[in-house]
Amino acid sequence: MVGAHARGRRHARPAARRRGDAVGLSPACGVRDGEHLRGVAAPARDEGVPVADPTTPPAAPAAPTEFDAVIVGGGLSGLVAASELVDAGKRVVIVDQEPEASLGGQAWWSFGGLFLIDSPEQRRLGVRDSLELARQDWLGTAGFDRDEDEWGRRWAEAYLAFAAGEKRSWLRGKGLKFFPVIGWAERGAGMAVGHGNSVPRFHITWGTGPGVLEPFIARARAGEAAGLVTLRFRHRVDELVVEDGAVVGVRGARLAPDDALRGVGTNRDVVGEFELRAPAVVVASGGIGGNHDLVRSAWPERLGTPPAEMLSGVPAHVDGRMLGIAEASGARLVNGDRMWHYTEGITNWDPVWARHGIRILPGPSSMWFDATGARLPAPLFPGFDTLGTLEHLARTGHDHSWFVLTQRIIEKEFALSGSEQNPDLTNKDLRLLADRLGSGAPGPVEAFKQHGVDFVVADTLPELLDGMRRLSPGDLLDTERIEREVVARDREVEHEFSKDLQLTAVRGARNYRGDKLIRVAPPHRILDPKAGPLIAVKLHILTRKSLGGIQTDLDSRALGADGVPVPGLYAVGEAAGFGGGGVHGYRALEGTFLGGCLFTGRAAGRAIAAG
Ligand SMILES: Cc1cc2nc3c(=O)[nH]c(=O)nc-3n(C[C@H](O)[C@H](O)[C@H](O)COP(=O)(O)OP(=O)(O)OC[C@H]3O[C@@H](n4cnc5c(N)ncnc54)[C@H](O)[C@@H]3O)c2cc1C
Repeated sequence: MVGAHARGRRHARPAARRRGDAVGLSPACGVRDGEHLRGVAAPARDEGVPVADPTTPPAAPAAPTEFDAVIVGGGLSGLVAASELVDAGKRVVIVDQEPEASLGGQAWWSFGGLFLIDSPEQRRLGVRDSLELARQDWLGTAGFDRDEDEWGRRWAEAYLAFAAGEKRSWLRGKGLKFFPVIGWAERGAGMAVGHGNSVPRFHITWGTGPGVLEPFIARARAGEAAGLVTLRFRHRVDELVVEDGAVVGVRGARLAPDDALRGVGTNRDVVGEFELRAPAVVVASGGIGGNHDLVRSAWPERLGTPPAEMLSGVPAHVDGRMLGIAEASGARLVNGDRMWHYTEGITNWDPVWARHGIRILPGPSSMWFDATGARLPAPLFPGFDTLGTLEHLARTGHDHSWFVLTQRIIEKEFALSGSEQNPDLTNKDLRLLADRLGSGAPGPVEAFKQHGVDFVVADTLPELLDGMRRLSPGDLLDTERIEREVVARDREVEHEFSKDLQLTAVRGARNYRGDKLIRVAPPHRILDPKAGPLIAVKLHILTRKSLGGIQTDLDSRALGADGVPVPGLYAVGEAAGFGGGGVHGYRALEGTFLGGCLFTGRAAGRAIAAG
């Protein structure tokens, strides 16, 4: 049975809105209406400083600034920078091209996974971690090999120390709590010195992405009430204002109001202009994942031909425009060819944004086949090596691939990345959480199984293979080969010792208490009728993160082509390659993106506050 076709829709679904409530945010997704913009101590004129007529001579000396900082982007990194500035009593204006409903940016949609080293949660599960082991993993994963990696390396060292030290207590102090079972993301390429996490480190925030945002939105709101923070939505920055070599403000277009709900694409109708000035401008505009043209043009040769078809794992506002704007004002962009896209994307049957895809966070047991039906080689098992798999698939010349699994595997091993796909964790709903731990697949996974266009569910292997053929172009898929592989793999399950390295990996994973409890199914025959029905999932490439960006020093000051800070300009979060223009190098250990927003946003806020 192949799932029903996705329904397009303009508004986010009610469940997503309810989740806004559950984390103490308004139904309009975490913010009050636009009325609050009036009547605060900050300027009441929506335009800020009037735009100078380009035909008149340059303006006289800058008028006293009304703000200490302009922050471009109301995502997590911008909000963290704003919170630090509020703590220091500074006046901040946050501008965002999206409506108020989307405050929080991508982080709201995120799973809220955070990379921590040697935490009490890890220790409680018997995981022994250390800064040395994490550094080994990070450097093996990053593969830094360029001159422009200098700042990325320094940020990596600083971030590792943060993740092993102050990060957890700083977040706990802000009210964040973690789900007690730690995930084991990116299990690696199979060698101690290479890519991957040697141990589980993916700490899921209780409340997922909205839970991570909550304290920073609250701080910005408190700042707003105190007259320190001004929020300007539907303000799109098109240009940085540069005077005497220093960035002193931003200029751009005021966009027409749009009542779209969170994440839904909005109009780009220009209704006016604006200019805002401050001695510090922070670029917190995110990456390029929503702009497939930019992704394709930056696609590196080592990943093969850019995919003809991709799903979007991020909303359309992740458009990458600000990077070019910052570059035009002297900032140095580096590592644009380093990106983090997933190979386990599925078409959202209930999309919020265009080409909306969801990433499966897979446990290790599903069999993985390329578009022709060849099994992926060891150690390209589900959840082991994202970019290794992407590179391998690129070499096959086909963008999609297949998971083949059982009902027993989907129930225990499929999680879907995204706050709205995990209502139990996002809403901190213990009753729903108990359902996850019980029998049956979690509700959102079951919904995909029933309605997703990429799912085939069948009682017998011939029926399953028929369904897979129907979803394959031409006669590309060699289903006889899949059958041979499944039967052979099943013979290997019968005894304790196996030459099938995936089975060895599955048995190894179950030595970890967390995996045994909720993430890894006991090894069983795929063709065991008691484990059925059989399931096949067609997987697509899903765009997500940019690993490169604006090069910054450890204060998040943007550096110019000469390596010297551009006066007045800062960059944070994904726009800064999460620090230094590329803290991850070529690959990531996961949970390091939200963490990178926290760390770089905090650094910028503190540096600006310190003057
Ligand atoms: C579904 C999903 C799951 C994820 N899960 C995880 C996870 O578990 N762990 C993890 O570490 N990471 C995760 N991530 C990644 C992480 O959420 C993002 O990398 C991070 O939130 C990016 O934050 P940011 O502040 O850099 O940018 P964004 O959140 O993209 O915010 C940028 C803001 O800038 C605005 N903007 C852009 N250009 C302009 C302009 N010219 N003028 C005005 N405004 C502008 C945008 O409208 C937007 O609001 C996930 C992401 C998604 C989408």
